[in-house]
Amino acid sequence: MDCSKIGSQATPTHAFNKVLVDDKNGRWWLFIHDPVASHGNDTDQIKSKYIIDGSGVRNAVLDNLGLKEKPNRTGVGIEYEYPIGTNKADHAILFVGSSVLSGYGWVFPTADGKLRVGVGVIHPDTDVSPKKLMLDFLASDDVQRFGLDLSGEYEVNAGTLPSVSYDPELVFGNVIRVGDSANFATPTVGEGIRICMDHGEALGRALGETIRTNDPAPLKRYEADCKKTLARNYHFGFLANKRFSLYSSKDWDKSIRRISHLSESELVALLRSEFTAKMILKATYKMLKQKLLRSS
Ligand SMILES: Cc1cc2nc3c(=O)[nH]c(=O)nc-3n(C[C@H](O)[C@H](O)[C@H](O)COP(=O)(O)OP(=O)(O)OC[C@H]3O[C@@H](n4cnc5c(N)ncnc54)[C@H](O)[C@@H]3O)c2cc1C
Repeated sequence: MDCSKIGSQATPTHAFNKVLVDDKNGRWWLFIHDPVASHGNDTDQIKSKYIIDGSGVRNAVLDNLGLKEKPNRTGVGIEYEYPIGTNKADHAILFVGSSVLSGYGWVFPTADGKLRVGVGVIHPDTDVSPKKLMLDFLASDDVQRFGLDLSGEYEVNAGTLPSVSYDPELVFGNVIRVGDSANFATPTVGEGIRICMDHGEALGRALGETIRTNDPAPLKRYEADCKKTLARNYHFGFLANKRFSLYSSKDWDKSIRRISHLSESELVALLRSEFTAKMILKATYKMLKQKLLRSS
């Protein structure tokens, strides 16, 4: 949750559990429950004119106020972070197919000398636990086949992000959403950090301007700019996401053959959910062709 507008009392150790609106003064109230400071008993109240929902997949503020429900389809992932060891620091691997149906796996080096190995799947398209997939992967021949050195102490990160169609509504009067609460991670591979930070910064500037001028227009511009940057690409990315999630190993074999014909920049664009008109035309043509073949 972004606490910048609700006062310096609120820190990341505060978990809020209630949002109320005070209609008379047009102000919002948050009841902050701080399990660390209060040993689970006390609540603080914080009054604010604006609230940013940055609570990630939980959509905590919007859900609490009945403005938007939590996403009913999510990407659930787990990753293990190893020392880079003898692994190549300039190589990344994405793997799909039988070991991670309805999802994908990844191996990539980090800027601080580590190697992240992870898997993610889409719930409820599958009910398989990513932890089980990860343990199966680690015990499989794939580790050797990919030439991975997974030795040394490792850390585990796990998390969830929305996997639903992009909804451009971001501003609800004085409540605004950003980040995973606004479904900003790419629908193809769930890359969210860069996009959430960029749009978070843009929202900060817009809200500052709105507060300074007492004019809601900058917030509306934030909403319109996000729609302009993301809506079209995320629409097509989400269509791809839904198709991939139902792919069998055979479908993946065919798809990988097609992907191998993409140029480097087209592949990067696909991973970033950035679709050119040519890519959209190609995909539409392929879909129509399949439909025609099925109906003949
Ligand atoms: C396993 C996994 C791996 C990923 N890897 C990458 C990657 O390599 N690169 C990349 O770009 N993206 C990656 N992503 C996506 C990326 O992590 C997210 O898109 C990004 O973190 C979203 O940021 P956010 O601040 O909107 O939400 P979050 O990072 O989810 O932060 C939301 C915060 O709000 C807090 N919160 C929730 N409810 C309340 C409440 N009631 N009161 C107070 N606080 C609350 C949460 O505890 C959390 O700290 C990954 C996601 C997963 C699940």
